[in-house]
Amino acid sequence: MAERGLKVRQALAAAAARLATVSETPRLDAELLMAHALGMSRDDLLLRRLDDVEPPAFAALLDRRLAHEPVAYITGIRAFWTIDIAVGPGALVPRADSETLIEAAVDHFADQSPVTILDLGTGPGTLLLAALDQWRQTIGLGVDRSTEALAMARANADRLGLGARAKLLEGDWAAGIESQFDLILANPPYIGLDEVLPPEVREHEPADALFAGADGLDAYRAIVPDLPRLIAPGGVAILEIGHMQADAVAALVEAAGLAPALRRDLAGRPRAIVVT
Ligand code: GLN
Repeated sequence: MAERGLKVRQALAAAAARLATVSETPRLDAELLMAHALGMSRDDLLLRRLDDVEPPAFAALLDRRLAHEPVAYITGIRAFWTIDIAVGPGALVPRADSETLIEAAVDHFADQSPVTILDLGTGPGTLLLAALDQWRQTIGLGVDRSTEALAMARANADRLGLGARAKLLEGDWAAGIESQFDLILANPPYIGLDEVLPPEVREHEPADALFAGADGLDAYRAIVPDLPRLIAPGGVAILEIGHMQADAVAALVEAAGLAPALRRDLAGRPRAIVVT
């Protein structure tokens, strides 16, 4: 007997109820997976397709999410700032919290623009490409140790029309980089070895992008001593931090002879150290 499928709106409600056990954003996850199954944007889905029949591909996508796979790895895309970043299991999924760094940079430069940007640990190009989209005359260099992540960054730069202004380089933080930059961005790994992470993160995202020694500070210990030579006059470096790391990272910055300022995210938690 032919089964009459659920309508999209009913399937979304049922999926959101099931996803509530694994996700803090069950309705959003369901909508993003449904839009992906239908091959359209979430806006188009919500505005025009709620009365369609549930697409057959949706059930398998839902099962993957119920098994804790991040939505961005299932759909292959994540919105960040003004752009969409394509991302897969070899690179850290862009997080809304990291937009705090771009906001801090926009505040620093006000009606000016940075001429040059350096993104240390660029991953799929998240911070670099958001900044290059923000300032249309600016050129930038993204560095990462992962060839896999750099390939994603290159593809993102080209797809977004930012390729001509984005250089991508395999490297170990700022080792071998001689020039100065107006804006330096970094979302390095900062999780301590003992910290508890949700299974989405622990089982799916690359450990190299997450963990940084016993106290989670190893990447800052590698990056911060190079900042005095890397920051151009009038420039700024903005480092993402874990919410308990503000004092420790500020101390490293002061030890390097620079001035740290704390920046909080939209939830009011410490999220970045702004270095001048
Ligand atoms: N904010 C990320 C998380 O807790 C960690 C990202 C990082 O280590 N840079 O999932």
